[in-house]
Amino acid sequence: SEEKSLNFIEEIIENDLKSGKYETLVTRFPPEPNGYLHIGHAKAICLNFGLTQKYGGYTNLRFDDTNPVTEKTEYVNSQQEDIQWLGFQWKNELYASDYFDQLYSYAVQLIEKGLAYVDESTAEEIAAQKGTPTEPGTPNQYRERSIEENLALFTKMKNGEFEDGACILRAKIDMASTNMLMRDPIIYRIKHAHHHRTGDAWCIYPMYDFAHGQSDSIEHITHSICTLEYVSHRELYDWFIAQLGIFPSKQYEFARLNLTYTVMSKRKLLQLVNEGYVSGWDDPRMPTISGLRRRGYTPESIREFCERIGIAKRENLIELSLLEFCIREDLNKKATRAMAVLDPIKLVITNYEGDGEILIGENNPEAEDKGGTREIPFSKELWIEREDFMEEPAKKWFRLAPGATVRLKFAYIVKCESFVKDADGNVTEVHCTYIPESKSGSDTSGIHVKGTIHWVSTAHAKTAEVRQYDRLFSVVSPDAEEGDFKDYLNPNSKEVLSKVYIEPALAEATLGTGYQFIRKGYFCLDKDSTADHLVFNRVVSLKDSWKG
Ligand code: ATP
Ligand code: MG
Ligand code: MG
Repeated sequence: SEEKSLNFIEEIIENDLKSGKYETLVTRFPPEPNGYLHIGHAKAICLNFGLTQKYGGYTNLRFDDTNPVTEKTEYVNSQQEDIQWLGFQWKNELYASDYFDQLYSYAVQLIEKGLAYVDESTAEEIAAQKGTPTEPGTPNQYRERSIEENLALFTKMKNGEFEDGACILRAKIDMASTNMLMRDPIIYRIKHAHHHRTGDAWCIYPMYDFAHGQSDSIEHITHSICTLEYVSHRELYDWFIAQLGIFPSKQYEFARLNLTYTVMSKRKLLQLVNEGYVSGWDDPRMPTISGLRRRGYTPESIREFCERIGIAKRENLIELSLLEFCIREDLNKKATRAMAVLDPIKLVITNYEGDGEILIGENNPEAEDKGGTREIPFSKELWIEREDFMEEPAKKWFRLAPGATVRLKFAYIVKCESFVKDADGNVTEVHCTYIPESKSGSDTSGIHVKGTIHWVSTAHAKTAEVRQYDRLFSVVSPDAEEGDFKDYLNPNSKEVLSKVYIEPALAEATLGTGYQFIRKGYFCLDKDSTADHLVFNRVVSLKDSWKG
């Protein structure tokens, strides 16, 4: 069998386990609960959980909730649901906010070692004193405060004796470092805000850099995997751990997932939701996990996508069509086939007598057991697709046209004898005769036809609304364009067909199941659906029809 080569993180882990550096691999997925998870997060989830599935050990779920203003319990819940839906289970459910006491005492330890100070400069002064990448920063008068004074001020900060922004706690590192983040970074700020878990217990909150590495260390995370933006933070990550003398977690960076025609930041996705460009976080056009789920993506297809794109060390842009390829492959194996007519005209079989009959259709020719069978009612009057008839057929046209023959899927061969138009010149009815000996499965007619079309019996059809989606943005990289990313939304990203005819078996469709509407694409029931008003989403077309 084919050996898959290791990615660079797997190589590091194999070496660390072999050398005995760590006995047990511990990873974490650390979302900030400030929005719903998206396909980029799925990449990080598959990576972190996938590693401990492969090498043993375990993965924690840690909510990185140090920013009280943007965080909500609704997001905590949705993020958990999405991870589990993807097929992963964390060992411990943890919150950075659970470490607020510990982090506070780490800050006190740094002050006691002379490695942190309270700075009362304004934000502007601090920015000006920071210097530039080519010029060192300028230390200010607060930098030389005594340990006692810093301890007293930090206690006052904690006790709520200052307004927001009155002062900050900074690490005392190196104002001339070539790494700007090492020029006395802020580690605590005052924010009189209600926190989704700690309520009003705190009015000072640790910065990301002061919380993340120490949280990793507290949990004995061995490999803390994050995206490339954090490369420059690694020095600071290591510095805090070294100064505090705590468990040496190590940070490794990989390239974040970027997808064509997609924005992938919770902040931007929140704007689309709040400003009504989409119906919610789970709008089927959203790149969120909940949006993809509602759209009809399966967990297997998303995991396969993440596997195929692999782990890169350099920024790249992945084609949205690869994600579509993955769901098409998965649904081709799984989806129950059914017939639905999206743009109906009537077909009348003029020589068909009687009330009709029940035909048997196999549910999935791609499945090993063919997915079982279903009953399909057939009768004299059927709905067919408008596009399956041409008054003046093109060359190599194998569907209906005056005088042409075609097979009705699961049923008979019919010959078009005439057609009817309305006042506007639109074809409304096609009249055919059928060949009784040509029934599928027992065809003795000896007639060969090249085209097969789908249909639904008018007397038995159910109606449904079908929502067809296209990419949400009309440019490849909406983030890279000038101006507001929302100017690049695709105005035609959603098309609603309000009267689609479906075969009766589809009225039993269930949420979370994929269906192939024969010749039309993959579809799934939408959560808006009711018994009286069925609603289907198009997951993806049958073939990649995109140009460019
Ligand atoms: P966003 O701006 O979309 O909110 P984020 O990085 O701020 O992204 P977090 O909730 O902090 O979101 O992310 C949790 C984890 O998911 C982090 O480890 C982060 O690196 C990872 N992650 C986020 N976006 C991507 C992406 N596009 N590709 C891969 N990993 C990602
Ligand atoms: Mg983040
Ligand atoms: Mg973010």
